[in-house]
Amino acid sequence: MLRLIIGLVATGIAFAFAGRRVLFLYRLARSGQPDPQRIADAKKDVREDVRGQVVEVLGQRRLLKWTGPGLAHFFVMWAFFILLTVYIEAYGVLFFGLDFHIPLVGTWAVLGFLQDFIAVAALLGLIAFAIIRIKESPKRLDRASRFKGSHLSGAWLILLMIFNVIWTMFMFRGAAVATGNFPYGEAAFASHAVGDLLGGLGESTNEWIESVGLLLHIGVMLAFLVIVLNSKHLHIFLAPLNVMFKRRPDGLGPAQPMRSNGQVLDFEEADPDTDVFGRGKVEDFTWKGFLDFATCTECGRCQSQCPAWNTGKPLSPKLFITDLRDHALAKAPYILAGAGGANGSGGAGGAGGSGGGAAGGADREPATLPADVLKEAERPLVGGPDVDGVIHPDVLWSCTNCGACVEQCPVDIEHIDHILDMRRYQVMIESSFPSEAGVMLKNLENKGNPWGMSETKRADWIGELDFEVPVVEDKLPEDVEYLFWVGCAGALEDRAKRTTKAIAELLHIAGVSFAVLGPMEACTGDPARRLGMEFVYQMLAQQNVETLNDAGVRKIVASCPHCFNTLSREYPQIGGHYEVVHHTQLLARLVDEGRLTPITPIEENITYHDPCFLGRHNKVYRQPRDIMAKVPGVTTQEMHRCKDRGFCCGAGGGRMWMEERIGKRINTERVDEALQTDPDTVSTACPFCLVMLGDAINEKKNSGGAKESLEVVDVAQLLIKSVKRGAE
Ligand code: SF4
Ligand code: SF4
Repeated sequence: MLRLIIGLVATGIAFAFAGRRVLFLYRLARSGQPDPQRIADAKKDVREDVRGQVVEVLGQRRLLKWTGPGLAHFFVMWAFFILLTVYIEAYGVLFFGLDFHIPLVGTWAVLGFLQDFIAVAALLGLIAFAIIRIKESPKRLDRASRFKGSHLSGAWLILLMIFNVIWTMFMFRGAAVATGNFPYGEAAFASHAVGDLLGGLGESTNEWIESVGLLLHIGVMLAFLVIVLNSKHLHIFLAPLNVMFKRRPDGLGPAQPMRSNGQVLDFEEADPDTDVFGRGKVEDFTWKGFLDFATCTECGRCQSQCPAWNTGKPLSPKLFITDLRDHALAKAPYILAGAGGANGSGGAGGAGGSGGGAAGGADREPATLPADVLKEAERPLVGGPDVDGVIHPDVLWSCTNCGACVEQCPVDIEHIDHILDMRRYQVMIESSFPSEAGVMLKNLENKGNPWGMSETKRADWIGELDFEVPVVEDKLPEDVEYLFWVGCAGALEDRAKRTTKAIAELLHIAGVSFAVLGPMEACTGDPARRLGMEFVYQMLAQQNVETLNDAGVRKIVASCPHCFNTLSREYPQIGGHYEVVHHTQLLARLVDEGRLTPITPIEENITYHDPCFLGRHNKVYRQPRDIMAKVPGVTTQEMHRCKDRGFCCGAGGGRMWMEERIGKRINTERVDEALQTDPDTVSTACPFCLVMLGDAINEKKNSGGAKESLEVVDVAQLLIKSVKRGAE
């Protein structure tokens, strides 16, 4: 009886604390802006929901890429599920007596074995985690450690609590073996081993040990529950939700429209009462944003891959998320008091203030809130130390949108969307952005290209070819299969123009009919959009979609991965639906079909640099490599960071047009990696990578750090060299 009373009282107290915290967190998330598209996607795509839970949550796909820690986490995570059955047994014993077992399955040897096996495996996982943490501990103040900035003391407490779950489990199960109350046979090997040890103590002592072990086992779980709900380990409960409501198929590829219902904001009809221009304060984030913040495990995998962080800049995607989380939690009483300065969208403050007075000062008059809460509420979301900003502007503007963080995150946090939304507010509402980028934006607005060159120059490269390339004047002729989208760099930048001519020649040789828009082509708007200037993006995008639709274009081949991403995955948001391929996809197919035959050997060692918007954002890794593999004589060697772990060139996210004043230049870091493969040539498939890597290689040559003959070329240039000489 005493056992039952202690168990029930402890459970009641713990559940009261846990419920209070859950209600607080729920109300905080609810205070965010609505995001109906997420819910609609999750409802529509049940198959993907199930796949996400099976592959990402249960299968731990991303974590298992980090073999050692991934395996340890895999076992610990599965222990949470399987050991739930032990807790059913523990509460059963509490209510119904020592000989309780789960009906039907409660005596199955396989269940007894699984329970013991996973507990032992989790114990080994804990030892692995402890070793990793001890090894990392001296390094964790070092930028190279993925744990730099993580709250490691909390992690130790969690490891201790899991350890407590395991030893208390074996304490009461071992005693149950000794008293003859244990429902499983020898298959529960570890419990029997403990039972053998305890057997000599006698039955009454073991009954006492069983009761104490049982209460300790339950007590540890209850304390653990309360601790988890108040710690970064919230991910234990939130990760499945975050995966369920993630962007489909992932947080890479297209930038999201400004309205969270998936519609594009029409600037002429924008309503200041209901439309939010980006995120100017934490309440402007949607509930999914709050969910992202709360789900971060502080594992630092994103940080370890971020090119900005790796080159000494202040941006860490982990710290970006945890700073927003800490700010949201510290400001929560203010938000939940309904003082969050709602700026419409049915969101900030309004929803949160109506949910009952649970925790953290909810429903209090703002003036009665503690001073530290009011101070937190006054902090600007973006600002330097002089104004105590939550996120430093240098953090916000360091991002290249490379997607390495999103790719690595085991709980599907969407860093780029949050960075972009905050940039939108800074650019469109505060007019605050690096001044150099202003020139680029003006050029885009006035001339339709980032360099401000005349649109008539867009077709100049055609005159350098010895065959005709049709330029669309009105309609794309019926017998023309592809519209070749040249892109601003491809049309106007000298080095990128070489790629453009190579692609045109290859298509010509292969007999693919194509035409170009020439002066009618304008920038897709990608640099403006990634910078946060949605207004200029929409202006250019609408103009291009109108041109393409009027011309009757259906199939496009694009040479720039940024154009490829925008045309194929962003223009559908505004009514532009085309079948878009990147030139490497089309060229690889033409080689496969025998329409292009590389014959002349190129005896070179080549290392390929994956452009982020081709690889990570659009998963085109194979085709550029396939092309190189078909060129006789070429030997290829991968850099240590390649494919989905490829390292950015530094140009994305509008960074191409910003000065890089902090830390080492990202393009220099990438070229240093390339040089480790001792290449004759660095190849890529993006005009921006071409320029960035080319600049870094030239600097290296000037300082004697690279051989004079080293050059960077597009895969198309390699192919034409082999095909053309063969055709001569
Ligand atoms: S997108 Fe790239 S640069 Fe930006 S935070 Fe993520 S990893 Fe860092
Ligand atoms: S954002 Fe994702 S990858 Fe980065 S620390 Fe948090 S959980 Fe880990």
